[in-house]
This record gives sequence, structure tokens and C-alpha cells, in this order.
Amino acid sequence: MLDIVSVLKRDGWTASVLGRLLHVGCEQTVGDTHLAYIDQGVLQITPSRYTHSVVISVAVHGDEILPCVLLDRWLAEYLNQKVSLAARLLLIFANPDAVNANTRFVAHNLNRLFANSIAENRTLGLEGERANTLMRVLADFTSDNRPVWLLDLHSAIRPSLYSTFAVLPCGMPDRESVCQHAERLGLGATLTSSKPSSTLSWFAAAKLACKAMTIEIGQVMTWEDAKKSAAMYRDFFLRLTQFLASPETFPSTSTSTSTSTSTSTLPIAHYAVSREIKKQHHDLMFHFPSQSPNFSLLEAGAPILNQGGETLLAQPQERIVFPNVNVPLGHRALLLVRPI
Ligand SMILES: [Zn+2]
Repeated sequence: MLDIVSVLKRDGWTASVLGRLLHVGCEQTVGDTHLAYIDQGVLQITPSRYTHSVVISVAVHGDEILPCVLLDRWLAEYLNQKVSLAARLLLIFANPDAVNANTRFVAHNLNRLFANSIAENRTLGLEGERANTLMRVLADFTSDNRPVWLLDLHSAIRPSLYSTFAVLPCGMPDRESVCQHAERLGLGATLTSSKPSSTLSWFAAAKLACKAMTIEIGQVMTWEDAKKSAAMYRDFFLRLTQFLASPETFPSTSTSTSTSTSTSTLPIAHYAVSREIKKQHHDLMFHFPSQSPNFSLLEAGAPILNQGGETLLAQPQERIVFPNVNVPLGHRALLLVRPI
């Protein structure tokens, strides 16, 4: 039987998870590093000496492929000893069933289930069970009370004015340090939520005191396009690699790394949610063009949307993020954000 490292070197992380090529519970020690496949799509890598603890999750949404491609590359480089690891690292491939089915989710949006009770999630099918598993795995990983970073990698449904940006849960411990790291990762912007939510990064921050962020990288695309587009995100990839290799050499600002790989010299922008708009009527209609990218600036006083016979007007400096008219009633249809 092949060991963990041989399978991952031969088939890669994504294919090993999707094809169920690794056996849950298998472990291996290579040199001074211990690998453990603790659940489907959950791999812990523990060097004998480490300086920080990091969780990197991908595929919470099954159609967000680019982060999977980037993580596959990092793991291949690590296993081939091209990059080093100074972190105790937990890799999570969150929803392999949705990726296999080529869909965002099978029954329920996984990123809406992390505020539920275990009993509630048990009634919510495949994603409910998966949310319970991931909450248990994360509670175990953070149980020694050392600080843990959680980077939940996604891709946005529509284009964005920033090619990478982070959504920070509200009530995050040490938010300042998380913002600094968002800048060090070369992200274009941060967006701080205004209230508790039900996402994986909210759960990690609010319930387990992790330094957590949801990072949006590019747009939803096919596997073929994601493999072609990965080079455009090389700056982020290199910075993430540095973060895992050595916090000491991690660049202190977004402009301090060498130039040939840097895609952005603009300072990071920080936003906060000013209003969250829920869909309350089936006739919800946006006034801005349907192709408007995330973070598009609205003109103060301009109509933003109509629903139930009422018109909502833009306040000064408001921008749109994650507009989606096709959500169920009661769900979030739009975030309005302002610079902070
Ligand atoms: Zn997503």
C-alpha cells in the first residue's frame, strides 16, 4: 500500500481527496515531519519544530477552483522540498462532494452552517454533517490555546476591482495584526463584517479565537481556466509560501518584496460593511448594471435597488459587494461598504 507522501506526490492533493485515495486515520513520519490524514480532505502536517499554526481551507464552495490549484502547487513544491514549512499546518478540502458534482453545494451552502448547533446540522444532509466534522477538527487543532491563523480561500462569483481581498469576521481578536497580514499577503483590500455570520472564518474567529480571514482570489472559473490563470496570482502564492516558510522573512509591507513578482504597488484599502441588504420580495431589482464589479462606487443619492415598492438610495462613498438577486427570500442579496 502506498504511503501518504507517495500518493500525494503521484496524484496531487485535489485528486487524492476527490478520488478518496488516502485512508482516513493513516499517518506517516518523514524525517522530522509528521503527516496525518485525520478525515476525508483533512491533512495535518506537523514539523518537529514550528513557529506558528495555520489552517488553509479551500473548496468550501465546490465551484471555486483557483484556490485548489494554488494549494495543489504549494503542496507539490513542499513535498519536492522546493519550499519549506515552519508552521504546524492543517489543510482542509472542505466540500469534495460538491467539487465532484461540479456544483457550488450539494444540498446546502456550507458557508452558512457554521453558526448552527450540531443537532441542527445533523438534519441538513451532506453539508450539515461536513460542517459538524470541520468544526470538530478545528476545535481539536486549536485546543492547545496557541494562536492559530485560518485562511479560508475562495473565488468571487463576479469580477472585483481588487483581484484579491479579504473578508474579516466581526469581533475578531487582534484585528490589527490580521489587517497587517492581509497587507503582507499583498491583498488589495479588507472588508470587515458588521455583525456575526455563519461562515467558517467567523466560526474560527468567534468560537476558537483564531486570526481568521476569508480570502477571495479571482473569480469562479473552470479547472482548465484556473490552471492557466494561476500564474496571475503568483505574487499571492509567493507571499503565502513565505508566510508558511518563515514569519521572520515574511515581507513587512505590500511593497517591500522584489519587484518582478509584485502585481500591485497600491496600498491596501480597508472597508467596513455599512448596510447589509436582504432579499425580502421576489421583485428585487438592482439599478446598477448587472456586470458591475465588486467594490464599484455608487453615486450618492442614486437609486441602488427596488423591492416591495420601495427604493433604496446610496449614501456617500458607498460601494457594492457580492450583489446577487438570485438568493432565497431572507438571504443576503447585497453588501454596501464604505472606506474606514
Ligand atoms: Zn466562496
